[in-house]
Amino acid sequence: MSLKVLTVVGARPQFIKAAAVSREILKHSGRIEEVMIHTGQHYDPNMSQVFFDELEIPAPRYNLEVSGGNHGAMTGRMLEGIEKVIVDEKPDWLLIYGDTNSTLAGALAASKLHVPVAHVEAGLRSFNMRMPEEINRILADRVSSLLLCPTHVAVENLAREGLTQGVHNVGDVMYDVALYYRERARKNSRILEQLGLAEKGFALATCHRAENTDDPVKLGAIVSALAEIAVDMPVVLPLHPRTRKLLQQYGLEHQLAALSVVDPLPFLDMVALEQAAKVILTDSGGVQKEAFFYEVPCITMRDETEWVETVSLGWNHLTGASFENILQAYSAISELPTEHGNNPYGDGTAAGRILSYLLGPSAP
Ligand code: UDP
Repeated sequence: MSLKVLTVVGARPQFIKAAAVSREILKHSGRIEEVMIHTGQHYDPNMSQVFFDELEIPAPRYNLEVSGGNHGAMTGRMLEGIEKVIVDEKPDWLLIYGDTNSTLAGALAASKLHVPVAHVEAGLRSFNMRMPEEINRILADRVSSLLLCPTHVAVENLAREGLTQGVHNVGDVMYDVALYYRERARKNSRILEQLGLAEKGFALATCHRAENTDDPVKLGAIVSALAEIAVDMPVVLPLHPRTRKLLQQYGLEHQLAALSVVDPLPFLDMVALEQAAKVILTDSGGVQKEAFFYEVPCITMRDETEWVETVSLGWNHLTGASFENILQAYSAISELPTEHGNNPYGDGTAAGRILSYLLGPSAP
């Protein structure tokens, strides 16, 4: 009898992480079956479908088409939809990723139906309870049976909250993904030619965290700093649809004229740009780590990070959304390390380890 895993995804970083685990599940298809639910949280084709196509993720059996609205309404509608699917599919595991509303809705729906929850990226903390992601993480971890941590620090964070059962440091699936796609991206992406960029001759930026985008002063400081850097070298900004909408709303769109603004990019193009960039400026969790994996100095436009190792190893500089701090960090990028020391994110086999814990010692 094969084990049934119900996977809940909904947002771009979850599609990318799920790609690594789904590929591993397919290798064991006689023993384990995956059914995927897409909550619909990200729905633009370039934020969703392009990842399923490019990363060869199995098509979701269910799409709940829940998008937009405030956190409560969105999470509530997802909760209702996921509950129905769990009742119909009767899975052995519910598998969730990261820290979005889709993660929390999956965790709540399954745990109340006594279906064990496996959380990939368990134990990350920013210690900033104003972030919706922090609330989602803490609650999801609390009701999960398998807490699949990407780092040793994540294991320690959970221990501090009294969570030690079912906790495993499996390494970071994003590192698996980086190893799998880094050469493929260099070979197959034409994005450098398309945008007329030279290797190590440009900066790459992303910005989408609510703490930055929901505050016109912070968002204004970020785009002004990027515009200032663009005097020195081209700044490529794949613009998240939410950030674009808010920039328009705040009347800050004119600041974009100095930047090379593009629509959100397919993954291989993004990975090709990351590897070729001289510096990366971001508020994204995934992009911070990819900068580290590809040995590109990173400026994180937040006050804190969950990926503390990138900072302590000298690759990542936290500036908050401050114009002065961002420019100061930019002028100091040549002082950041040029070679990797140890890698705290595992050895690129996180997906295999996740699978071995799902299958368990007495798996069918
Ligand atoms: N990403 C992408 N195209 C883009 C911007 C980001 O493929 O235009 C990828 C990026 O390489 C990383 C992931 O999306 O793997 C990060 O997702 P995001 O920044 O949306 O979320 P976070 O990591 O902050 O949760």
